[in-house]
Amino acid sequence: MLFGVSVREHILLFAALVLTACPPPISTPDAATTIEDAGISSSDAGTSDAGTRGPFDAGTDPGAPTPGELTFWQLDLPPGPLARTGEAGILIGTDGTLVLIDVGNSNHDDEILAAVSELNTQLLTPGRGYRQRAEFEVEYVLLTHFHADHIGSFDALASQLNITRGVVHRGFVDVGPGTNETDFSAMCTQLTGTLAAKNLALCTGSPSSPCTISGRAPATSCAGLTRGELFDVTDDASGDPSFIDLGNGARLELLGANGFMLQGRTPVASAAFGVTDVNEENARSLVMLVRHGAFRFLLAGDLSGSGQPTEPDLESFVVNSAPDVFANGGIDVTHANHHARKTSSNANWVNATAPSDGKTRNVLAGINAAYVNSPHQETLDAWTNGARLGPGGRLVVTHRAPLGGTGTALLDVNGRATLQTVERGGGYWLAGSAYESVRR
Ligand SMILES: [Zn+2]
Repeated sequence: MLFGVSVREHILLFAALVLTACPPPISTPDAATTIEDAGISSSDAGTSDAGTRGPFDAGTDPGAPTPGELTFWQLDLPPGPLARTGEAGILIGTDGTLVLIDVGNSNHDDEILAAVSELNTQLLTPGRGYRQRAEFEVEYVLLTHFHADHIGSFDALASQLNITRGVVHRGFVDVGPGTNETDFSAMCTQLTGTLAAKNLALCTGSPSSPCTISGRAPATSCAGLTRGELFDVTDDASGDPSFIDLGNGARLELLGANGFMLQGRTPVASAAFGVTDVNEENARSLVMLVRHGAFRFLLAGDLSGSGQPTEPDLESFVVNSAPDVFANGGIDVTHANHHARKTSSNANWVNATAPSDGKTRNVLAGINAAYVNSPHQETLDAWTNGARLGPGGRLVVTHRAPLGGTGTALLDVNGRATLQTVERGGGYWLAGSAYESVRR
């Protein structure tokens, strides 16, 4: 059966590659630009200065992290013999800060460790402009929510990774049968025991939940969203929105978690919803905005948006809570919620992130072959009908699953998908093509 799926997928992959090959890069290739100096010659780091730059020139595909630029790897996590779903990404700061965003399923620890090792021993080296790093060193692990495909390998990784700053999660609150108890219990036990010093819960209860799904333990506070720079304890009482410093003015901002969103400097709860359905756990996903200069990258785990009875419409709540995030151009690259399934990417979300103004934007989804039907055709259509993503804009997936949607704007890289800024956020490379940031 798996073999049959594989043959079908290879045929479809080939078709997809033919249909989507080589959208015209916006950049002019510059053969003289080397990997070492690509992107670090721009002088105006950390600012958006539309109207003052010359023509956008992304140079050649940098191919590897470069000092001064942000990189994101959406990892390829094969299902393995047990056909497990799984998603993970690694955000690489302009200074080499490493942030794992989810860690895949319980069979994916090897892929995570291999990617971290590759970065620390081959790419983020003193010879390439970074400080010396330990092989398995990461500054942060961010867990978007408590499903097996996002936290399953955490227990195994906890004893192998060198996590220097913290593990950020929604909090041990509002836990119910919508989570996966085995994986949740293992992760929670680590973070309340051996790794307690690294535990960064964004929301808390009075009391919080034990490491089981026996009681809901509702959130009474999400003060973790207002602690300023997360590793800097001196600003914890400031009430400033929480963020992770990624160097050179780049940052990952934590906008929401567990059904709460910052409105200004105040965490506000959405309309109440339950804890029993898997999509009610998805709805509690972290909401994160990554910024570098003019560049915007939005991630929100498996956030739901359909508004069906057990699929709370948190996408619209996010859009309405944080209008500044979406104003003046939307989002350059949106991480599609919930593996591009039709529980998510509702009309409000798609309109806010990609406002169909003729400019080019892209969408990125972490999918493996076990997410049968991903990306859903309805979701692919929502993003790409009417040329919403602009010239050359695409839905990029790590791996189109069996029975997933098809279309010319779908790019199945069948492997790791790499996103990297250039010109200090003036533009970016995604899956081999270059784009100008909409606010450049
Ligand atoms: Zn998921």
